[in-house]
Order: sequence, then C-alpha cells, then structure tokens
Amino acid sequence: MIKKNDVVSISYILKNAKGEELGRAEVKEPLNYLHGAGNIVPGLESAITGLAVGDKKEVTILPENGYGEVDPALMLKIARTNFPADIDIQPNMQFSSDMGGQERIFTVDRIEGTDVCVNGNHPLAGETLNFSVEILAVREATQEELAHGHVHDGSGHHH
Ligand code: ZN
Repeated sequence: MIKKNDVVSISYILKNAKGEELGRAEVKEPLNYLHGAGNIVPGLESAITGLAVGDKKEVTILPENGYGEVDPALMLKIARTNFPADIDIQPNMQFSSDMGGQERIFTVDRIEGTDVCVNGNHPLAGETLNFSVEILAVREATQEELAHGHVHDGSGHHH
C-alpha cells in the first residue's frame, strides 16, 4: 500500500480532455518519485495513495488538482528594452524571473512590435489531465532522499 515517503516507480500515459497525448513514461524508463513530497501533481498523488505494485488506474484530474488554472496575471507584455540587447528574443525561448521570492519560468509567446509577450503559466495549466497509470515498483526512501524531498535514482538533475 503506497503511503507517504515511499519511492514509487510508475509508467503512465497522459492525455488531455480531447484525447491528445501530452506525455508518457514507458515501463523501461519509468517515473520514480517520492510519494507525499509534491513531486507530482496533487490529483495524481492522491489517486496513487493506497495502490500496490501491479495496480493500474485511470485517473481524471481537473486543473485545480493538476497544474492549476491559467492565470491571466502571468501573461505579460514587456518592452523589448527590458531584455538584454545582445539576445535575439524568439518565441518559445524561456527565462526565469523572481516573482515575490519565487522563481518562475516564463516562455516567450510572440513579439508584438517593440513588446515581448510572455507567459508564466505552466504549459499544462488549465488542462484536464487523463492519466493511465501503472504501479511498477515501490520501496522505502533513504534518509538522504527524505531530507532532499526527491528520489536519487542516478538519473536527472540533482540539487
Ligand atoms: Zn537530492
């Protein structure tokens, strides 16, 4: 029974409300995460609580339990002169900005004349998420993983 502080390995297919695939983790390259640490969206975490290895589940998650609603306040129009002159600003470029002590990633939507339109919402904000998930493995977290709040599986970045 999966509970807080377990390290869980899952495979999944994620689709939006229209049935378009948004992402997946294959059995041979599963997602490993620390359960109860907010590593995955809240709706998926609560759906997985209590499951066991071998269980499969279809989960529909509304935006409020997923990546949140689209926040218009995070869609900004910024004068080009606020960006470094030596950088060629193009759509889909990303940069981070400190907002109220929280680092947030903004993506350039488009250039409008002398303005740059950027979006600080998560790319999946506002989406209803349909997960088809399978539990592949569960183990206890190490003390170091608990202290860090994430899994140390030798892959991905570390901080
Ligand atoms: Zn760590």
